[in-house]
Amino acid sequence: MKIWVHSDVSDGRITDVTFELLSKARDLADDLGGADMEATLIGSGVASEAGRLAEYGAGTVYLADAPSLALYSPLSHVPLLVGAVELWRPDIYLFAATSIGSALGPAVAARLRTGMAAHCVDLRINDRKGLSALVPSFGGRVIGEILCPNSTPQMASVKPGIFVKKPQASSEFRIVKLDIPEDASDERRLVPIGIERRHPKGRPLSEADVVICGGFGVGNKENWLLLEELAERLGGAAACTRPAVDEGWCEENRMVGTSGQSIRPKVYLGFGVSGATHHVCGMNEACVVISINRDEGAPIFEVSDFRVVADLNRILPLLMDAVRPSVRR
Ligand SMILES: Cc1cc2nc3c(=O)[nH]c(=O)nc-3n(C[C@H](O)[C@H](O)[C@H](O)COP(=O)(O)OP(=O)(O)OC[C@H]3O[C@@H](n4cnc5c(N)ncnc54)[C@H](O)[C@@H]3O)c2cc1C
Repeated sequence: MKIWVHSDVSDGRITDVTFELLSKARDLADDLGGADMEATLIGSGVASEAGRLAEYGAGTVYLADAPSLALYSPLSHVPLLVGAVELWRPDIYLFAATSIGSALGPAVAARLRTGMAAHCVDLRINDRKGLSALVPSFGGRVIGEILCPNSTPQMASVKPGIFVKKPQASSEFRIVKLDIPEDASDERRLVPIGIERRHPKGRPLSEADVVICGGFGVGNKENWLLLEELAERLGGAAACTRPAVDEGWCEENRMVGTSGQSIRPKVYLGFGVSGATHHVCGMNEACVVISINRDEGAPIFEVSDFRVVADLNRILPLLMDAVRPSVRR
């Protein structure tokens, strides 16, 4: 058996989610009673990164390193990976559910006529059917088990931060260079011209010890601005649920959950968040969870250390008073 992980690359460096996936692949390999762990790596000037994959258990790295591969293009990356899979036949192939992985993985799966489970919250081995991909379903009320028993590779994508990276060096390591077709990037049809970076406002969620999260219960933009102010006073960051983005109160890069970010702050303080699985799977690793919700039966209370059953419109002004700007760290 062979488990592959595709390397997520940003600015020529392999990102942490790749190591998280390799760490999970190790668990899957153990559950399979042993499987080879291998990785694919595509980019320009990325050859020097390949050794980092060995630190997390990859015994073989299939490498395509060329200037024409500097920026992601489906015309270059998809045929390369499809060709590699057809030649080397992995049984399981994992991708990061990043913007590139979310485009690349399904395109590769479609070309290979296999299935891909997207935005998984966990991966397991089903004794009879191989990869079992767990995905919140029916509005997050149940966790669905997605199986792809009749075609290989069995593929899945997972967001950064869901799994924990655990270094475990491979005993053997080799690099296999992939053939790069001359027309790897078909310049007549699609030419990547560069990357324009957005600079999100506020502190990155991944770096904040304190995260103040606003859900649909926040009710309006004015309350959302108060939450942002509270987060700033506490030296933290403001996060949100999907409906808060849909309402236009906050930007999508603040969203926590299966389609957003996974966070592990020291303190998560949620206002008007119901606790849908799609959201909870992105915050349930927080050290301390405090929730304010007027519905005592809200599912968020099941994962909360401190529960405040109250109208947030009453609690928020009290907190703003208690946490004056002078407390800013
Ligand atoms: C494929 C898919 C992916 C998704 N991905 C994500 C994701 O990544 N992240 C995400 O967050 N969601 C995601 N969702 C949506 C998710 O399923 C839920 O709908 C969402 O998380 C609910 O957000 P909420 O808790 O803010 O709103 P609601 O479920 O509407 O809950 C609002 C809560 O506020 C409380 N409330 C209302 N007024 C007050 C008040 N005045 N004071 C106190 N409490 C109050 C209510 O009691 C309620 O519990 C996804 C959905 C799908 C289908």
